[in-house]
Amino acid sequence: MNNAKLIEELPKGAIVQRGGGVYSITPRMPLGQITPDQLNSINSVVQEFNLSGVRVTAGQRLKIQGIPKDTLSAVLDQLGPVGESCKYYVQACPGTTACRLGMQDSMAFGAKLEDFLNGYSLPTKLKTGVAGCSMCCSESLVRDVGLIGKKNGWTVAFGGNAGKHVREADILAEDVSEEKVFEIISKALDFYSENAKIKERTARFVKRVGIDAVKKAVFGSAQK
Ligand code: SF4
Repeated sequence: MNNAKLIEELPKGAIVQRGGGVYSITPRMPLGQITPDQLNSINSVVQEFNLSGVRVTAGQRLKIQGIPKDTLSAVLDQLGPVGESCKYYVQACPGTTACRLGMQDSMAFGAKLEDFLNGYSLPTKLKTGVAGCSMCCSESLVRDVGLIGKKNGWTVAFGGNAGKHVREADILAEDVSEEKVFEIISKALDFYSENAKIKERTARFVKRVGIDAVKKAVFGSAQK
C-alpha cells in the first residue's frame, strides 16, 4: 500500500471528518467478518495513537475515527493489510452457514460477488446486499445490487436505495443460478457504467432511464 498516495487521494483511503483536521479509516472486513488478529491490530492502533475510538457502521464494518493527519501515515503503516479499504463492499447475512431460515449460502456467494465487483470501475459508490432468504436481513431491496436466496435460486434486484430518497429495487430476475446472477449483474452494471452521469447512483439512474431500458440491456427485451 502506498500511504503517501493514499493520503494524497483523500478521501479514497481515509475520510475527512466533520470540522476537518481528523480522518477516519474503514478497514476491509469482507462480509462483516473479522479475525481475532485483525481485531487486535485495530485495537492496538487505537490505544497506541490515543484515537477517539471505533464505530460499527451500517455496512457491517469498523470505522477507526479521530486520526490526526500527521499520524495517518503511521496508523496505516501499523495496520498494514488490515487497513486496506475495499472498493465495493458487500453486505451479507449468515444464510445457510448459521441461520435456521437460510435458503442459500449468502456468505459464500457474497465473497464471490465482492471479488467480481472489485474488478469494476463504476461511476460512483455501489452498495450490495446478499440475503440468504426472503427476510432480507441484508437489506437487499434497498441496495444498488441486491440478491435474495430462495429455494430454487436467487432473486436479482437492481436500483434500490435507502437514506433520504428511499427507492425499492426493481426485480430483474427470479430463481436464477449463481452463474446466471453474474451474467445479469454484469450486463446491468455495464449498461449503468456506460450511461450513468458522474456520481449518479443506480436508483437515480433507473428512475431516469426506466427499468425497461435496463431489462432490455440485460435480456434483449423489457421482458425477463
Ligand atoms: S435474511 Fe434470512 S437467512 Fe439471512 S439472516 Fe435473515 S433470516 Fe437468516
